[in-house]
Amino acid sequence: MARPTIGHLDSAFLRMMDEIRSMLRVVFRTENELTLPISGTGSAGMEACLTNLIEPGDEVLVLENGLFGARMADIVQRCRGELRTLRAPWGEGFGQEQVETALQGKKTKIVALVHAETSTGYRQDVPAIARVAHDHGALLVLDAVTSLGGIPVELDEWGVDAAYSGTQKCLGCPPGLAPISFGPRAETVLASRRTKPASWYLDLSMVRRYWNEERVYHHTAPINALYGLHEALRIVAVEGLEARWKRHEEAGDRFARGIEEMGLEMLVAPAHRLPQLNSVRIPEGKRDETIRKAMLDGHGIEIGGGLGELKGKIWRVGLMGSAAQPEVVDRVLTALGMTLR
Ligand SMILES: *Cc1c(COP(=O)(O)O)cnc(C)c1O
Repeated sequence: MARPTIGHLDSAFLRMMDEIRSMLRVVFRTENELTLPISGTGSAGMEACLTNLIEPGDEVLVLENGLFGARMADIVQRCRGELRTLRAPWGEGFGQEQVETALQGKKTKIVALVHAETSTGYRQDVPAIARVAHDHGALLVLDAVTSLGGIPVELDEWGVDAAYSGTQKCLGCPPGLAPISFGPRAETVLASRRTKPASWYLDLSMVRRYWNEERVYHHTAPINALYGLHEALRIVAVEGLEARWKRHEEAGDRFARGIEEMGLEMLVAPAHRLPQLNSVRIPEGKRDETIRKAMLDGHGIEIGGGLGELKGKIWRVGLMGSAAQPEVVDRVLTALGMTLR
């Protein structure tokens, strides 16, 4: 990323763009033509998906079980969508029947859900929800920010219509880009819009014309950030996607086992735990900030605090990308044990 910045229409750069797009299709497990990185962090990807698919008055059902579901709901309203939310307690998720009931007798255009809720560590099952959404004529929009590159994401097999991610979670890249992918049903919605999306910057009908063979200037590509993404995707390809998923799974298991051996408790039930984001209940009588500060100052390890209603109740330990290693897990567990004692 520190290499010289070349022109956004330089032939070497155009080749790199094409490679990024094909590597993104590999990590998203999709054939979707409209697969590209949006300039901006994960939230820009969220906004790009929603603003391009929603027109004023469209009914959108957001499944909200944490901070990022709440952010989707906020964006739906800014797009002038008719928002309905289905809520689950933080640390829990959604079953097929619940979603079925919420869609019954309604004309819903989009169901939006978070695959890996980073605020709680909950891993949502996606395929069953995608089926229910399609049965009711709705598209499924998936937040894959924390899942992509860490646990299986299967856009085509699951029938996800639009998805977005970020670079700085399990892809192990600095922040600044948001890979997105739109499938055939989402493309049809794009092509039949009656109004322009409210955002000029995120309008995919224009952005895509730079990323395809037309190479029409829209906004200057963040050249060096894209060098970074290209390299991060190359590293994922060298490791292999399945091997990477396995590495994350093993690191998460090792961490949860260690936590339970220490007599501490995980927030999320084993079947729905994210290996890359581990929520630990703060034991009775321990001060959240004191412990986190001692971990950082004494051991150089940053662990996250709880957000929203879980503030002061949990710690969030990220094991993403290069951090998903047994040595890292052991170091964190040892440091946490010493700090608690
Ligand atoms: C991090 C995150 C986002 C937002 O990404 P930014 O890069 O912070 O804009 C959205 N959804 C989930 C699930 C996330 O973990």
